[in-house]
Amino acid sequence: MNQRVAIIGAGPCGLAQLRAFQSARAKGADIPELVCFEKQADWGGMWNYTWRTGLDQHGEPVHGSMYRYLWSNGPKECLEFADYSFDEHFGRPMGSYPPREVLWDYIKGRVEKAGVRELIRFNTAVRDVRFDADSQTFVVTAHSYADDLTSSETFDYVVVASGHFSTPNVPSFPGFESFAGRILHAHDFRDALEFKGKDVLIVGGSYSAEDIGSQCFKYGARSITSCYRSAPMGYQWPQNWEEKPLLTHVTGSTAFFVDGSSKHIDAIILCTGYKHHFPFLPEDLRLKTDNRLWPLNLYKGVFWEQNPRLAYLGMQDQWYSFNMFDAQAWYARDVILGRIALPDQAAMHAEDQAWREEELKLENAQQMFEFQGEYIRQLIAATDYPSFDIAEVNRTFLQWKHDKYENIMGYRDKCHRSLITGTLATPHHTPWLEALDDSLEAYLAEQPGPGKRTAP
Ligand code: FAD
Ligand code: NAP
Repeated sequence: MNQRVAIIGAGPCGLAQLRAFQSARAKGADIPELVCFEKQADWGGMWNYTWRTGLDQHGEPVHGSMYRYLWSNGPKECLEFADYSFDEHFGRPMGSYPPREVLWDYIKGRVEKAGVRELIRFNTAVRDVRFDADSQTFVVTAHSYADDLTSSETFDYVVVASGHFSTPNVPSFPGFESFAGRILHAHDFRDALEFKGKDVLIVGGSYSAEDIGSQCFKYGARSITSCYRSAPMGYQWPQNWEEKPLLTHVTGSTAFFVDGSSKHIDAIILCTGYKHHFPFLPEDLRLKTDNRLWPLNLYKGVFWEQNPRLAYLGMQDQWYSFNMFDAQAWYARDVILGRIALPDQAAMHAEDQAWREEELKLENAQQMFEFQGEYIRQLIAATDYPSFDIAEVNRTFLQWKHDKYENIMGYRDKCHRSLITGTLATPHHTPWLEALDDSLEAYLAEQPGPGKRTAP
């Protein structure tokens, strides 16, 4: 096939795209030339941990938002690759909520097996993408750090897989300028031990707020106060964790809240989400959206309607993650291979709008993951991605929500069944709250190691 495809990013989405094409080639298809640009030195995207914050060694914004001691916040059974099971990778059952390094190992295992690493240009940041209407091709300009050279190449398709949980949304509150302690965004949070013995204020009411607060609790913060804008998270928090309505201002070391209450605090962590940010894309190709289940202007949640030679992967808010990226990548592959024909722009947009209207009717978590599950089911039905029981995944999500309301510090000790192999997870050797060492080695060990908490 005499075509070229640029893939921007080698995180789970970019790797799903590489694996999708490799899978087609393994079945005899003629596939285009693939070039994947990755600005970091290794693959795995967010799952490739970095200690750095701010700018990296090349003066680029650090991509990573993950922190030490991060464990999966959803059951691994809800994100399992349908073509590469946990059993295949690890050779034995394990817990349902593995730490970051274990999931990174799993992500890497599939693409190592697929042999696609040579298609990735590491340490190379995409700076610019232009579309030439006459030739119907893109010019992609990228900066290679190793030789400090910027060069441009022509491609027939561009797949944007650069993630959307990297550029922080950073609100300000009155009094921040003269606050006596540290203020940071979740993007720059790395190690909960920094907050041991401190009174921590968390701003936000979603996953980062819940988990960074839980990390601070687990690693010995004196107290946690979380405050929300729209709705409380509503879990049964430990005795030293209080949930309040939104912060109004701070004076010195005192935080004041909408309900008139106040509290002493040592540090503020803004868990206020992220922005979709594509500085390398021109206005007419750039997705502009908030973090939601149905961003507009993407046909099937993937193809840029105004120019469907451009595809985006993983731009939705995520209940489903790795398996949704796969469903999208397989679909994008089959469009590029000419196996699926796209309708005209008006028809694409009408379908897109219909999904948005359905999205606007969603009222609770169950409806949301069922909505995303149905989207994935439809994508998978259009390709040869191995099908799996979406209804069962939804049931696992429901059980997970229930487990969290029952015990927010204990839900990660629960075990779920694989929807791919039927294997039931086995309890981890140490309850999550006591497992202080999150390394791959400690997690896969048969017995708890020295990282186990010895005394409360
Ligand atoms: P990313 O993983 O962000 O990868 C994007 C890649 O693109 C990066 O490698 C980046 O370096 C590269 N890139 C960006 N810009 C350029 C450029 N201009 N040129 C070249 N390369 C570029 N999901 C779960 O399923 N379970 C979890 O427990 C979970 N925990 C999370 C915890 C945190 C703190 C965060 C922030 C996210 C978490 N997620 C979790 C969601 C996570 O983002 C996805 O699992 C997944 O990493 C998204 O994959 P991606 O490929 O879209 O993006
Ligand atoms: P998010 O889900 O988009 O939530 C952003 C939060 O910030 C919302 O509660 C929002 O409030 C609040 N917010 C935004 N602007 C605000 C403002 N000006 N003032 C007050 N509050 C404001 O982002 P996230 O929580 O960072 O999660 C991002 C992703 O990371 C998710 O996919 C999540 O699963 C993942 N994650 C996973 C883990 C893990 O444990 N593995 C840990 C952290 C994050 P409103 O509700 O009012 O909009």
